[in-house]
Amino acid sequence: MPDLYVGGSWVAARSGATRDIRFPADGRLVATVDEADRVDTEAAIEAARAAFDDGPWPLTAAQERGALLHRVADLLVDHRADVALAETLDTGKRLVESEYDVDDVVSVFRHYAGLAAAGAEAGRAVDTGRADVVSRVVHEPLGVCGLITPWNYPLLQTSWKVAPALAAGNAFVLKPSELTPSSAILLMRYLEQAGLPAGVANLVLGAGPTAGAPLSEHPDVDMVSFTGGVDTGKRVMAAAAGTIKKIALELGGKNPNIVFADADRETAMDMALTAVFLHSGQVCSAGARLVIEESIHDSFVDELVERAGRIRLGDPFDQRTETGPLISAAHRDKVEAYVAAGVSEGATLRCGGARPDDPDLDDGFYYLPTVLDDCKPGMTVLQEESFGPVLTVETFSSEDDAVRTANDSTFGLAGAVWSTDGGKAERVAARLRMGTVWINDYHPYVPQAEWGGYKQSGIGRELGLAGLDEYRETKHIWHNIAPEPQGWFGADPGVAP
Ligand code: NAD
Repeated sequence: MPDLYVGGSWVAARSGATRDIRFPADGRLVATVDEADRVDTEAAIEAARAAFDDGPWPLTAAQERGALLHRVADLLVDHRADVALAETLDTGKRLVESEYDVDDVVSVFRHYAGLAAAGAEAGRAVDTGRADVVSRVVHEPLGVCGLITPWNYPLLQTSWKVAPALAAGNAFVLKPSELTPSSAILLMRYLEQAGLPAGVANLVLGAGPTAGAPLSEHPDVDMVSFTGGVDTGKRVMAAAAGTIKKIALELGGKNPNIVFADADRETAMDMALTAVFLHSGQVCSAGARLVIEESIHDSFVDELVERAGRIRLGDPFDQRTETGPLISAAHRDKVEAYVAAGVSEGATLRCGGARPDDPDLDDGFYYLPTVLDDCKPGMTVLQEESFGPVLTVETFSSEDDAVRTANDSTFGLAGAVWSTDGGKAERVAARLRMGTVWINDYHPYVPQAEWGGYKQSGIGRELGLAGLDEYRETKHIWHNIAPEPQGWFGADPGVAP
C-alpha cells in the first residue's frame, strides 16, 4: 500500500521515488516508504484547500469534532503496541519510552477533544454601549495548516499540532521527519477509521527542502507550524514571509539545570542524570547545562560522572537497557564534533567522549554519556545545542550569579532550579527567561499547560488553551439591528450632519 495520504486516498509519490528507513540500533532496514517532492506536496495542499473551502469539517459542530478526537484516542489505545513498535524501530528509543509516548499522545487527543466538546471556541458578546447593535467576537479555524515535525518524539510532536488543528476545524498537510515516518502513517489510518472527511488530513513524506518547503511558501497554506532546529526554523520563517503566513515555531533549547547547595542532593543527582541523558539527550528540553553552586561542585560532579559512566547502553527492546542509540550516523558525527570543539575550547572531558567499545553495539549509532566540566561563558558548547548525551558544567557563587549564568543563552525553552529554600527557588524561577521552569523536578509536562520558547527557542505556544488559539482566527461581527441613514454625506449641500 502506498504511504502518502492525499485527499482521502493512499497514493505513491508521482516520481516513484522511495526512501529506506533504518533501525538506529543496528542499521537494519525497517521500512521503505514513498518519497514525496514538491508536486506531491502541492497536490496535498490543493486537497486540503478544497476540503476546507468546500467540505463539511470547518462547519461541523465542535462537539462532533471533539467526539472524533476521542475516537482517534480510543484507536491509539487499541493499537498502543503497534504504534510503540513503529516509534522504536524508527527512532531507536527504548520500547518502554515509546509506550509512554503513546500514552502521552492519547492524553493530548483527549485534552483537545475535551476543549472542543466544552465549547472552548465559543465567542463572547461585546457591550458596545448601543442598544441597536449586537456585537460579538467569534473564533474560527484558520484554514489550511502546514505541520512540520522532527524525529525525536515523532508522534507526540505531531499530536501537539494535529489535535488542536482538528479541534479548531482546520484542514492540514503533515510532513513528518524523513527519518521517522511510520507513526504518522498509522495516525492517518486512525483518522480515516474515525471518520474524518476526505482531504482534511493529508500526509506527505520526504526531505525538508523538497517535500516540506512548499508548506511555508505556498499561498494556499494559511499557517505553518514547525518543530525542529533553529536554523531550519529561520528558513521556514523567511519563506513564510513571502505570503505573510501565520507561523508557530518550536525550536531548540540549551537548558540550564540549576542546583543550589541546599538542594535535596540525592534527588537532584538522580534527576540531573535523567534531565540530560534521557533518550540519549535527544530531547529539546534536555537539561544539558548543569549550573551548580561552587561549594558543592567537586563532590556533586564526581558522583555524577561516576553514575553517568554506569548508564547501560543497549538494544531498545532489552528491558535492562537504560538508553539507546542516536538517530543516525550523521547525527552522531555532529555530536562528536561538538564534544571535540568543547575540549579544544578548554572544557575538561570527565567521562564519555567516545563510542562504546561493546562489539554488540558496533552496528548502531551509539555514543557514551559525556560530561564536559570547567565550561566558561562564551564557549560554543554552552551556546549551541548538541542534541546528544552531553552535559556541560558551569558554577555560580550567588543567587544573582545563578540567574545571570542560566539566562546567558540565545535560547529560552526550559530550565530547572533545585533548592529546599522555597522562596529562593521561586525568586529564581521568576527571573528565568524560559517558557517552562521546573522547581525540584525535571521534564514533566501536561497537555493542559502551555509549552514553548522565549528568545530563539520559538514563537507561539503549543498545548494548553494557547495551543488551540494558534489554530484559530478571531473575528468581530457587528450587527446593526436597527439600521438607518446617518446622513454623513448629507443631501442638503453645505450642511454638515
Ligand atoms: P530539523 O530542523 O532538521 O527538521 C525538522 C523538520 O523540518 C523535518 O521534518 C525536516 O524534514 C523539515 N525541514 C528541513 N528543512 C526544511 C525546509 N527547508 N522547509 C521545510 N521543512 C524543512 O530538526 P530535527 O533534527 O528533525 O529535530 C531536532 C530539533 O528539533 C532540535 O533542534 C530540537 O531541539 C527541536 N525540537 C524542539 C521541540 C520543542 O518543543 N521546542 C521539540 C522537539 C524537537
